[in-house]
Amino acid sequence: MTAQIIDGKALSRQLREGFKTRVAALVEQGVTPGLAVILVGDNPASRVYVGNKVKACEECGVRSFHIALPDDTPQAEVLATIARLNADPAVHGILIQLPLPPHIDGRSVLEAISVHKDVDGFHLYNVGGLVVGNTIFPPCTPYGVQLLLDTTGTEVAGKNVVVVGASNIVGKPMALMLLQREATVTICHARTRDLAQHTILADILIVAAGRPGLIVPQMVKHGAIVIDVGINRLPDGKIVGDVDFNGVKEKASWITPVPGGVGPMTVTMLIENTLRSAERALRLRHADDYQEWEAPILKGA
Ligand code: NAD
Repeated sequence: MTAQIIDGKALSRQLREGFKTRVAALVEQGVTPGLAVILVGDNPASRVYVGNKVKACEECGVRSFHIALPDDTPQAEVLATIARLNADPAVHGILIQLPLPPHIDGRSVLEAISVHKDVDGFHLYNVGGLVVGNTIFPPCTPYGVQLLLDTTGTEVAGKNVVVVGASNIVGKPMALMLLQREATVTICHARTRDLAQHTILADILIVAAGRPGLIVPQMVKHGAIVIDVGINRLPDGKIVGDVDFNGVKEKASWITPVPGGVGPMTVTMLIENTLRSAERALRLRHADDYQEWEAPILKGA
């Protein structure tokens, strides 16, 4: 069997086309969606990620506010920047590029972002919402994976899903989202003994470990759907995922490539969350009773 390719680039393009209509409708009613991206320090990979996000905003008609702060910016100043953006009606989404320099407490910074502008979905409120299946902004990477899975037409309920990687930004929220869709979910991580014993049972295998070549064909069930979230730069500069793509594609039914799989979807879902926030701002503007609108949005409307 040679797997069918799940094309994240194509799905992203299609979704971004749809965004243009939504942006036009918002602009017509006086709301230009805006995303603020804060970068503290000079991490070269972070600079590339921020650049991609700003470019995607431009492409979709979303206004971007790129705030670059020096590496030694005191935490209080980062918090003050967030407070200013929280209060700015032109800003519908606030994203702080991770990782932050070591003198800054990442949790305090993430908690400072208004839950209604937390388009990365990392605020505790949104994380808690995921646990009870009721979040405002699903975190972008798992959200994108979910849509990629949907393109295969596979019913997730009842499937054995194995998520390799248990980070707060990918593995854990991914597992929670698929649990919500009634899959039987196993989470593996660096301390898991005999990883293959788990992965071989997966109908859907999602890998987000950051280890090139971690998943080889012997670890994959015939006909499994394999989603490779990993992004690794090899010494020769080549970008690869965590899955031995050429080997595993001969066993899987569907597989995502790297690049061109999950990567483009992450940025696309960030724009989706920003548009949802801007659409909410518009509803709020038209609502006579603020309370009436507060309740549904907190339920993820
Ligand atoms: P992380 O380092 O925070 O977490 C990695 C997780 O993998 C940990 O839970 C760790 O225990 C587990 N792990 C490490 N080695 C393992 C092994 N040998 N066996 C089993 N589990 C192992 O990383 P992260 O931020 O979750 O990112 C994971 C990968 O996904 C990275 O390659 C990252 O670049 C990529 N990523 C891609 C996107 C995207 O848009 N495609 C977004 C975020 C992260």
